[in-house]
Amino acid sequence: MKVLVINCGSSSLKYQLIDSDTEQALAVGICERIGLDVSYLKHTPAGQDKITIETKMENHEVAIKMVLDALTDEKYGVIKSLDEISAVGHRVVHGGEKFASSTIIDDEVVKAIEECNDLAPLHNPANLIGIRACQSLMKGVPMVAVFDTAFHQTMPPKAYLYGLPHEYYDNYKIRKYGFHGTSHSYVSKRAAEFCGLDLENSKIIVNHLGNGASITAVLNGKSIDTSMGFTPLAGLVMGTRSGDIDPSIIEYISKKENKNIDEIMNLLNKQSGVWGMSNVSSDFRDLNAAMDSGNELAITAFEVFVYRVAKYIGGYVAAMNGVDAIAFTAGVGENDWKVREMVCEYLGYLGVTIDKEKNMARGEEIMLTAPDSKVKVCIIPTNEELAIARETVALL
Ligand code: ADP
Repeated sequence: MKVLVINCGSSSLKYQLIDSDTEQALAVGICERIGLDVSYLKHTPAGQDKITIETKMENHEVAIKMVLDALTDEKYGVIKSLDEISAVGHRVVHGGEKFASSTIIDDEVVKAIEECNDLAPLHNPANLIGIRACQSLMKGVPMVAVFDTAFHQTMPPKAYLYGLPHEYYDNYKIRKYGFHGTSHSYVSKRAAEFCGLDLENSKIIVNHLGNGASITAVLNGKSIDTSMGFTPLAGLVMGTRSGDIDPSIIEYISKKENKNIDEIMNLLNKQSGVWGMSNVSSDFRDLNAAMDSGNELAITAFEVFVYRVAKYIGGYVAAMNGVDAIAFTAGVGENDWKVREMVCEYLGYLGVTIDKEKNMARGEEIMLTAPDSKVKVCIIPTNEELAIARETVALL
């Protein structure tokens, strides 16, 4: 069956039409600058060149209409009629404590997602707009919500509670939720298969290192701890996000620079991370180039990034009392050999030695440790869209 996967942001909408029998994408694309003067639809049918259409998309409903037109277009379409789309899978960022797994969307579910808006004010409202737009344009087609937070609902209280007065959890549900769950779930399953482990009896650490980055400890197939927290700002140093900092820094900056909370949150979310530290870029390709030309700030930012990853891995080895496999995934994890090499240099205490030649691989599933290595280290490319399509099919 053919499943349309929708990942709706505030001004963008990514999509893939996936044939669930072959698990291949028939077309992938993105609508950018929705609601602005000029918008773009970039559509790539499998095996063909990308087509860019410049137009005006007033809102997400117009954007989805354009996507459906592109999918059925005579020239660059991949299906004859919309009837061929059997289901839609929606990525939803926050499911709070209500959703521990994916769910078929009905009015109640829409309401429950809406109730989580507070927890993800930038993401959930956009996800809902995408759901409603699809509902109005594709009447009767079943839809499924797949939550970034759901996989982490298995964390025990000792991992998800903060050291705050308990009423903040009781009243406002302030706790660690964790994100990138679809990717952590997909990659941990695949890593178990690839490493010849029984998922139900395994200790796996997944390093999802992209522009946003998080690490998860997966014990016997379940997330027991993860580096992101109440929001995706916590944990690792990321492209533009600070990750963990001493919360008192917020007050200190506020007093020193007379900044309000919104300004400081903007600083921590958008002007920090390796970008803020290096003054070069949030993109590791640029950071690598700057390091090669001897830029000291870039070198330091890179070292801080890697060191934080290594410390989280160490923490999760302790949390699980060991580890069988460590997987690298997402843009940086799949592509940046230097990050992997430097992280693995910290893992000598686990007996990890990686093959430096194999580690030059990019974006492919590959084992980096020797066959007899007790702890296996591998690259497992993530595929969140395929994971969403699988969940959608499974539920229907
Ligand atoms: P997100 O989904 O969080 O936007 P991705 O997982 O797509 O992020 O990762 C994007 C990041 O991957 C880029 O910002 C860049 O830092 C990194 N990246 C992509 N290709 C390479 C490469 N060839 N070498 C090093 N880093 C890369």
